[in-house]
Amino acid sequence: MNRRNRAWVAFGVSFSVIFMVIFYPRKDFSVLQQVSGQTMGTIVYNVKFTGPLLKAIKSQIDRELKSFNQSLSTYVPDSEISRLNQQGFLTFESKYFLPVLKKSKEVYEKTGGAFDPSIGLLVQAWGFGPDKSIPDPAIEDSLKRIIGFDQVVFSDESVTVPHHFQMDFSAIAKGYAVDLIGELLEEAGIENYLVEIGGEVRCRGVNEENKSWSLGIEDPVAGLNERRLMAIVRLKDRALATSGNYRNYYEKDGKTYTHIIDPRTGYTTRHHLLSVSVFASDCMTADAYATAFMVLGLESSKQVLSQEGLDAIFFYKSRDGTIKSFVSEGIKPFLKMNKANELF
Ligand code: AMP
Ligand code: MG
Repeated sequence: MNRRNRAWVAFGVSFSVIFMVIFYPRKDFSVLQQVSGQTMGTIVYNVKFTGPLLKAIKSQIDRELKSFNQSLSTYVPDSEISRLNQQGFLTFESKYFLPVLKKSKEVYEKTGGAFDPSIGLLVQAWGFGPDKSIPDPAIEDSLKRIIGFDQVVFSDESVTVPHHFQMDFSAIAKGYAVDLIGELLEEAGIENYLVEIGGEVRCRGVNEENKSWSLGIEDPVAGLNERRLMAIVRLKDRALATSGNYRNYYEKDGKTYTHIIDPRTGYTTRHHLLSVSVFASDCMTADAYATAFMVLGLESSKQVLSQEGLDAIFFYKSRDGTIKSFVSEGIKPFLKMNKANELF
């Protein structure tokens, strides 16, 4: 090849390289994909992630949630938990049961029994179980003696509970399901996502604008069908779960009965806390502690928060009837309060 031809070849090669760099279709990670559906009866789930849409992802999510319910839902008559509640013994068939038992034991111990999934009989007795009925007060005293997670014995293969025990993982299961869907997305190669099931959330990476995911914290005294935001929080690689007495309660003879029960007394919780949102790296932990903190109240929860390195936002009713908040230090830089509820 003479010099002139070589020059043309060199020009052609460099032009093609420049052309490819400019026009080669980029993998566009800023595209937001959204998938939603229903699980655990009527609970809505929303999944957002960035990158190309994976067609099979919705059916994979639905399949995972179905197997999850087949293990841990007390609303499914032949689920693993329903069979445990009928027989007092279960050899694990799924991967779901053991992790939830281990996390339950940990949170039960760290909160002095404020979180206790052996609470099923009390939940039913107070009228919040699958079989809704308002209880006969005479049975309260005997019921509160027949719960206690320390009587739940398990190994890597099986679990045994005393006769009459009714396990109920409602206070931890949603958070656990959120983690499982997050892990499913990670296995599919998705790094930037937000998974939300009925208000419990897990985020990883960033959103389509390359910023942390933003989430609203609901006003705990908004009406039943109203949604008002109390604060906006930015989350990166964290999970958030909220527990509150503001949607699930009833009134009888001038008294309010809430769905969160203090396992140490057997009674439904009655104090000034309206809601607790807990931040942890996984959603199962956040969910369990959020329920426990509703039982413990603000002051005792603060001790657990610092011992466990967790963050939380508490909303409570002050003596003058106004709504106040306590926000732990670690979450303050990521939180923007609604104007009427300034941080303090
Ligand atoms: P959550 O919305 O996560 O706070 O869960 C509340 C549900 O957990 C209730 O509806 C009961 O089924 C169950 N529950 C109530 N009190 C407790 C408790 N102290 N520990 C564990 N589970 C509870
Ligand atoms: Mg919970």
